[in-house]
Amino acid sequence: MGKKKLSLAGQIFIALVLAIIVGLLMGNHADIAKSYIKPFGTIFLNLVKFIVCPIVLFSIMAGILSMKDIRKVGAIGWKTVVYYLCTTAFAITIGLIVAYFAKGFFPVLSTSDLSYEAAASTSFMDTIVGIFPSNFLAPLVNANMLQIIVMAILIGFAVILVGEKASSVFTAVEHLNEVFMKVMELILKLSPIGVFCLLCPVIAENGAEIIGSLAMVLLTAYICYALHAIIVYSTTVRTMGGLSPLKFFKGMLPAMMFAFSSASSVGTLPLNMECTEKLGANRQVSSFVLPLGATINMDGTAIYQGVCAIFIASCYGISLSFSQMLTIVLTATLASIGTAGVPGAGMVMLAMVLTSVGLPVDGIALVAGIDRIFDMGRTVLNITGDASCAIIVSNLEKKREARKAMKKA
Ligand code: ASP
Repeated sequence: MGKKKLSLAGQIFIALVLAIIVGLLMGNHADIAKSYIKPFGTIFLNLVKFIVCPIVLFSIMAGILSMKDIRKVGAIGWKTVVYYLCTTAFAITIGLIVAYFAKGFFPVLSTSDLSYEAAASTSFMDTIVGIFPSNFLAPLVNANMLQIIVMAILIGFAVILVGEKASSVFTAVEHLNEVFMKVMELILKLSPIGVFCLLCPVIAENGAEIIGSLAMVLLTAYICYALHAIIVYSTTVRTMGGLSPLKFFKGMLPAMMFAFSSASSVGTLPLNMECTEKLGANRQVSSFVLPLGATINMDGTAIYQGVCAIFIASCYGISLSFSQMLTIVLTATLASIGTAGVPGAGMVMLAMVLTSVGLPVDGIALVAGIDRIFDMGRTVLNITGDASCAIIVSNLEKKREARKAMKKA
């Protein structure tokens, strides 16, 4: 009676703290955590992944249909892409500068006997070609976010162009969107349990000792993640988004904690949509900006790649020149477009960044053991960057509409 229900953010926070405590206590029984706790985390993540495709498809379509204007989609699109590219380039620059000055504190690990099998890399042009689907169902079956976005935009445009005759499709899309949003809401109610079951086995398996010699490299990456959030997102959200940074970060906490536990931007997408909407982002905008961001905008991953490049180079006794650093800024920004929003994807793309400046790909073996710990932080930054964009573009669109209305009046 009169009892206040704990907010979702509060529940997730408690789950996170419990997962760390229980994970540390289970250090000697990591196999039990892996066999009996992790599967429940996997079930939860599977449910989230199951709902992500229909949510992206129908929310983008519903967003486009409610705008009723193809040009408006273009206006949102270019603002989003420019913001994403600029913030990613800024992120990698911060990563390189801080790591350059911190490298004196980095351990110099032995590089003999290292081996890392890099995945076959795709060229930038292949990435572009891969955005366009060649089959109607494959994007949904393979959960290929960029292809789903293209599909949603094309069908959405077509419904607008067909007009009156397609009005039943218009209504159907709106209703389906409502239904899938409801399914998402139901699944998200389980997120505290999901967070606990995802994080606890990671802590039990990795424990405190694995961080050991790489503590300084990790610390550098986390300092850069924090700096980027504080400098870039605070400024952009305040100046262009018209929102206080404190309010922004507070509102984003549930999604940030979820990203930390799941290390997946795509998995965090439903919660990110909910958080940004509560912060005032327009659903039309966030339904387009967030799925795009979860696939192409990876500020945390870019920082991680910069810090690791400097660390690996220093282990090999190589000092990177200014032009090599510029190459890293460019390749890491492009690599982030091709990085999937799933755990560990950033490490795979690190191979491309290292190759671009002639560093040995085998060096990845130096950081591979604790990639998950890097990944948890970089995913938090990745999704926060997407959210900041949703807030900013929503605000800019609102102002544009207001200006248009004034002109008409
Ligand atoms: N796990 C990251 C994400 O989902 C990608 C990465 O591995 O850097 O955003």
